[in-house]
Amino acid sequence: MQFRKDPCGIFCVLLIYASLAYADYALSRWMIIPTFSEGIWAPVHMIIFNTFLLLVVISHARTMLADPGIVPLNKSSDLKIRRQALEYSDDESGSDNEIFLRPEEYVGEDWSVCTRCESIRPPRAHHCRVCRRCIRRMDHHCPWVNNCVGEFNQKHFLQFLIYVGLCSGYALLVIIHSWINHADDGETGLKGPRGQNGHHIKVVHTIMLSIEALLFGMFVLAVSCDQLSAIFNDETAIESVQRRNRRSPRRSRRISKISLLRGVCGNGPVWSWFIPCSLSTSERDVIHFPTAPPHYDV
Ligand SMILES: [Zn+2]
Ligand SMILES: [Zn+2]
Repeated sequence: MQFRKDPCGIFCVLLIYASLAYADYALSRWMIIPTFSEGIWAPVHMIIFNTFLLLVVISHARTMLADPGIVPLNKSSDLKIRRQALEYSDDESGSDNEIFLRPEEYVGEDWSVCTRCESIRPPRAHHCRVCRRCIRRMDHHCPWVNNCVGEFNQKHFLQFLIYVGLCSGYALLVIIHSWINHADDGETGLKGPRGQNGHHIKVVHTIMLSIEALLFGMFVLAVSCDQLSAIFNDETAIESVQRRNRRSPRRSRRISKISLLRGVCGNGPVWSWFIPCSLSTSERDVIHFPTAPPHYDV
């Protein structure tokens, strides 16, 4: 578990939690309770909305606190190989400040040395300037989760997007329902905190809550589309930019879309992709890095 002390990230995270708390208060107190005051529907709607909110909080916390796939820094035994690679490399044309290892320093195909944190890293790992480390299959650094989105936490990031989208959509439906069927609260006795007529307070909360739900909803919809297209193209946001800078064509690998999704969400059943509470370590989380200088066998 880890937490980044990035002021911008911490501010964004506090903003998210404050928005969630406000949405819970405004929707429950000013929309659900007055609208569904009779029967069991008020508790039912409260339970559904709060369940979505809980899933948002859990998936957000897991994205924020998880190791996104940090490439370990080299141990002293690796220093020699690193120096050799930095010293002798004649290929510094890579736009990601990477130096590819010579054959005698071979640890795996397309492994490289990062010139910023000097770690020996596997293919598709990129250096994050905020985290100051290389991250496996890094997609982007997201201030809203105060962490990088990489190989090990992209699944939880997708869950976070899905549940924020569900919360936003659900809140908008409740707001619309409360105004279509119960627009006469001024006469039915909705009261403010000091017993005053609460109709105008409901109007204010409706406007603020609608703006919040629309902003969050549109934001996560746009990011979800980006994420899915990146997964289906087998290319992270960073790789897409690098490829366009190099003007090289997209590499084509014949992998089915479901296999690409499994690569991010795990090999379990599809329903398990939506559960942010799994405690067991997935197979992807136990990939080992070379800890000693590799030997190149001819
Ligand atoms: Zn690095
Ligand atoms: Zn980062």
